[in-house]
Amino acid sequence: MAYEIAIQISSRKKQKPEPDALGFGKYYTDHMFILDYDEPKGWHSPRIVPYQPITLDPAAKVFHYGQTVFEGLKAYQTADGQTLLFRPQKNFQRLNRSNQRLSIPAIDEELALEAVKQLIQTDRDWIPSAEGTSLYVRPFIIATEAALGVAPSKQYKFMIILSPVGAYYAEGIHPVGIYVESEYVRAVKGGVGAAKTAGNYASGLIAQEGASEKGCSQVLWLDGVHRKYIEEVGSMNVFFKINGTVVTPALNGSILDGITRDSIIQLLSSWDVPVEQRAISIDELYEAHRNGTLEEAFGTGTAAVISPVGSLYWQEQQLMINGGQTGPLSAKLYDTLTGIQRGALPDPFGWMVQS
Ligand SMILES: *Cc1c(COP(=O)(O)O)cnc(C)c1O
Repeated sequence: MAYEIAIQISSRKKQKPEPDALGFGKYYTDHMFILDYDEPKGWHSPRIVPYQPITLDPAAKVFHYGQTVFEGLKAYQTADGQTLLFRPQKNFQRLNRSNQRLSIPAIDEELALEAVKQLIQTDRDWIPSAEGTSLYVRPFIIATEAALGVAPSKQYKFMIILSPVGAYYAEGIHPVGIYVESEYVRAVKGGVGAAKTAGNYASGLIAQEGASEKGCSQVLWLDGVHRKYIEEVGSMNVFFKINGTVVTPALNGSILDGITRDSIIQLLSSWDVPVEQRAISIDELYEAHRNGTLEEAFGTGTAAVISPVGSLYWQEQQLMINGGQTGPLSAKLYDTLTGIQRGALPDPFGWMVQS
């Protein structure tokens, strides 16, 4: 089915930032996508318009009850001038799972993908091409009905904005220090931990601040019930290489089903590296560190792709991992995945989608 997306071209083009000043999520392109939802009409009026502020009633439900979801994916410029998206269908499948949890009506996943492609096409001169740079795509939905009763909104806006982003690591991939959080929890099974929804991030900020005070750049979350099983690192899934086997927490209902996580598992399996998805306790990690079998640790997510963990700060002790250096498997995964994404390496899994 072909979708009619109305396009209103901006008469004012913004100045583009220098490639080395991009950072993450600081600049936005000239256009945005909007789709409205009203009852009983459903989702309607897909359109690309000049990037602009939106006006909402102060009683809009998103402000009061947090009925909102989002996604994040990247478009890459290849050396031969193509634009490639990494597994975008997965993002819209997940958006609909988040929608379901937050009582937001499902979107048409094909329309959403078509909207991303047409928006990128409209702003194609914004896609950075320098090594490590990409165009970050942020789809999101907010509840816009002006009504203070606690009930699902009858009106929504689905929007997509684009942000050219720089290399996540200015001086190449380098390991970070992680604070094992034992006071606050991110999510519990039955809650919204498996959904990409705003409240998960707002409630995590306080732990992030505490980690920074200890000189750590991220938080390692433990489960909310036993306070001992590993969940995630900041807003990334987490992997540990213990005695030759790579282990990562199983999808247990409280962690996010990361697309990078899934891709890493597929890559490792294709290399015949043993991978286990199961519960991992902090005591198991402590013991593996003590007996010298904790070989590598890394976080995975769209923004950083792979973020090596150089040390864990746990009960006033600093556990160094691989001497605080990026491990060989972490480096190989980073090089392979970013190579596939940039179109520099073959794509044996059929992950990349032309935009
Ligand atoms: C987005 C996100 C991830 C990573 O998911 P990707 O699909 O790999 O980008 C992991 N954990 C949380 C909490 C997230 O929000």
